[in-house]
Amino acid sequence: MSEWQDIGTLLMEFGLINDNDLKEGIKLQKESGLRLGEALVKLGKVSIEEIDWVLSKQLDIPHVIVDDISVNVELLGKYQKGFLIENRILPLYELDDQISIVIEDPFNKSAISYIEEASGKKVSLSTGNGRKIEDLLIKTFSKAGLPALIDSIKITIEKIKETSFYRIDFLLYEHSCEINVFGAGILKQLLKIKGHYTDKDIFRAFDTLNVHFLYEQSFSDNRRFAVVYPLANRIDIIKVPAIIGRYGLVLPEDTMFSDAHASGLPHVFPMDKPVPGYPYLATRNKHSTYEKIIYVIDAAPADFQDFYINAYIPEKCLSCKGAGCMACNDLGYEFHKIEGMYSSRDLKEKLKED
Ligand SMILES: [Zn+2]
Repeated sequence: MSEWQDIGTLLMEFGLINDNDLKEGIKLQKESGLRLGEALVKLGKVSIEEIDWVLSKQLDIPHVIVDDISVNVELLGKYQKGFLIENRILPLYELDDQISIVIEDPFNKSAISYIEEASGKKVSLSTGNGRKIEDLLIKTFSKAGLPALIDSIKITIEKIKETSFYRIDFLLYEHSCEINVFGAGILKQLLKIKGHYTDKDIFRAFDTLNVHFLYEQSFSDNRRFAVVYPLANRIDIIKVPAIIGRYGLVLPEDTMFSDAHASGLPHVFPMDKPVPGYPYLATRNKHSTYEKIIYVIDAAPADFQDFYINAYIPEKCLSCKGAGCMACNDLGYEFHKIEGMYSSRDLKEKLKED
């Protein structure tokens, strides 16, 4: 393939473009930053299919249908994300002395020799549709970002340990995920991570951490809103403020298993029905303020109802006045444990005092 300088001369050899077409293509390439092949397609001089055909025919390079590829995530991780996306390269597999890649532009010599040097192996080339390579790379890299989500959840759980925060909110945008925590009437924005995540990624992350949870979700135009209640009594990490309910299942009349259920949205629970001895949460919209009281059904003696034990009363952090600092573990609040039993009304009164 070394005799061919670039896709332009190759297309000319095949009579698919003429000298003028090439000049126009090079001009547009320089102005727009497109690759020469793309520029010629944009100018209507050739089609993508013709380019693919010429390349595979003349250069004896196999053309790969990118749709059918299963991605080698580990191999992908050896190269800079930006480098692969920019050059539209998909590394396929490695042998002892050879690395196989799909590349949009087989004339992209600098990128190919970079791979050769980095891997210390001979590069075996295939060509493939650049757009599809790029899409596949972006999709794969955002999935590979799951460790970042897991880490963030782990950090969040650590931070809200022994506090009144009992709910973790995930705002899932196209390119980012915002993690907020909620409890005792306080909503706190805690973390923001890059990447496109789905509710399934959240399930996988919690499963990986071996944390049971209840889940609700809602949608709006540009984001998904996922709400997770980690189940306190089994993981022994998060203490929720209200740890009282009836053992078994005689629910207070206005108890619901979540408002997602109430409003008919899809919801996910670890089991269909609460079972005594199995960690289960019920949430109750106690007031019009949407403040919820959480009951861990099997955590309390049967004769307790609607009482708090071991509540944590939040107070604004003196150092940062709620903004979040080292002293308060970024939460903006410090929590004072009150032991004993309190009714939800007592706790409201207590919160009002502070
Ligand atoms: Zn602080």
